[in-house]
Amino acid sequence: MSSSATKKIIGIDLGTSNSCVALLEGTEPVVIHNQEGGRTTPSMVSWSGEDDIIVGAPSKRQMVTNPTRTVFGIKRLIGRKFSSPEVQELASSLPYSVVSAKNGDAWVRIDNETHSPQEISAHILSKMRRVAEEYLGDAIDEAIITVPAYFDEVQRQATKDAGTIAGLTVRAIINEPTAAALAHGAHHEHDQRLAVFDFGGGTFDISILAIESGVFEVLSTSGDSQLGGDDFDRVIIDFLADEFQTRNEFDLRTDAVALQRLKEAAERAKIELSSTMTTDVNLPFIAAGSTGPIHLQRQLSRRELESACRHLLDQLGSPCEKALGAAHCRPEDVDQVILVGGMTRMPAVQEKALDIFGKPPSKGVNPDEIVAMGAAIHSGIMGGELQEIILLDVTPLSLGVRVISGKMSVLIPANTTIPARESKIFATIEDNQTFVAIEVYQGEAEMAAQNRRLGRFILGDLPRAPRGQVRVEVSFTLDADGILEVEAVEHSTGREASVTIEAASGLSQDEILRLAGKTRGY
Ligand code: AMP
Repeated sequence: MSSSATKKIIGIDLGTSNSCVALLEGTEPVVIHNQEGGRTTPSMVSWSGEDDIIVGAPSKRQMVTNPTRTVFGIKRLIGRKFSSPEVQELASSLPYSVVSAKNGDAWVRIDNETHSPQEISAHILSKMRRVAEEYLGDAIDEAIITVPAYFDEVQRQATKDAGTIAGLTVRAIINEPTAAALAHGAHHEHDQRLAVFDFGGGTFDISILAIESGVFEVLSTSGDSQLGGDDFDRVIIDFLADEFQTRNEFDLRTDAVALQRLKEAAERAKIELSSTMTTDVNLPFIAAGSTGPIHLQRQLSRRELESACRHLLDQLGSPCEKALGAAHCRPEDVDQVILVGGMTRMPAVQEKALDIFGKPPSKGVNPDEIVAMGAAIHSGIMGGELQEIILLDVTPLSLGVRVISGKMSVLIPANTTIPARESKIFATIEDNQTFVAIEVYQGEAEMAAQNRRLGRFILGDLPRAPRGQVRVEVSFTLDADGILEVEAVEHSTGREASVTIEAASGLSQDEILRLAGKTRGY
């Protein structure tokens, strides 16, 4: 145990599959072992018994016997609507039940109770907090949490709320690739350009950064928030289940326990095939046939895995091209490619990174720990222990307002360095129009309705005049934490209105406080 005179801010990588906690000792980030001895903790929460909630490795161990009450991959649901196509597709393949909350958010049902993804994530954060507290022998109440660069405002806010429910003041939400670059760059003094290739259980992120004289500038970021290791597992599950069904006329996917065993075996096979050319999938008594038990036994080769997952591997290229284009870089301008996330251990993924950037990715950083270490370094920047580092991040998605055609008029484009301020002038569209409603959206679709709606406000009491003659200047100010303030000013009268758009995560303050009371004792 070590003790600390000043309160520590912990850095938490809240991963889709695994989470990791680190803190700064002196100027060095240190990853903390959990109570089970692991340096990372499975991001899994199970309900066993009445109010018994199990988190991490013990939850993973009982996944097969308790599939409908064991939640994994909650990060893929946080801040999302139940009706979104991504959630619909995901929900159909999960052994636990995903339902629509009253406000349309995707929640999880365990027995007769529903739980928000924020609350479930809070159980994982609480566990990480306790890991750090046991190590320090001191209470922790502040954290920096990382999120995929591609998370929108609602997903970020929901993650922040999860922190609050876990009894933590979230000092900052930072992007995972930015954190990885911080951890890598802290040990490489010279100026360079980095590509952080972050491929985890649920998402793929790519960021291009420039490090110059201790200034970390994110030049661009892109990704695919619906592409991850789970998709590879699903391909293997379908591959094996389809074959099994053809031979035995039984669909293993219709049996929750069989599906869970298959899922575990699929992931294990994928991981083993990163270091061997063939592996055995062996699932005895997986189903009951008319003539007795049926077993699934099959050898799977790396070549079969790669060819079945080719379409997924091919999806890695386009976000990288987008990020390079937005950073005005060619692949040869990138000095180093840093791999983050468990999926980058797959040889075919490393080959893809080599293909795209024309150079082998750098080895020597632990892809499972680098993000949490970067979050701990960021805590040092915030706490003043590491003053020589300056971080300039970008906004991952465009911000704008809806105009009469239904399109989104962009004020702050994706990849703008934050903090940022931009304005645009709009004119009235009707004679004697007395107010304008300003609707703020975030996303890349041309039509506003296909993007995320962040808020709406009204500028009223406009002077009466023919259409087109009253002009309203709308300004967006985005601070370094990604909080957006929107102002509207009518030019002739100087009338103004403004709002701070803090995206609502779907939970009210009361609900967050109520859940915080419940989770803190756990
Ligand atoms: P992360 O979200 O970074 O924890 O990454 C977890 C994902 O990486 C999961 O889909 C794991 O199955 C996958 N993974 C972990 N280790 C390996 C490995 N050695 N080879 C292939 N995939 C791996």
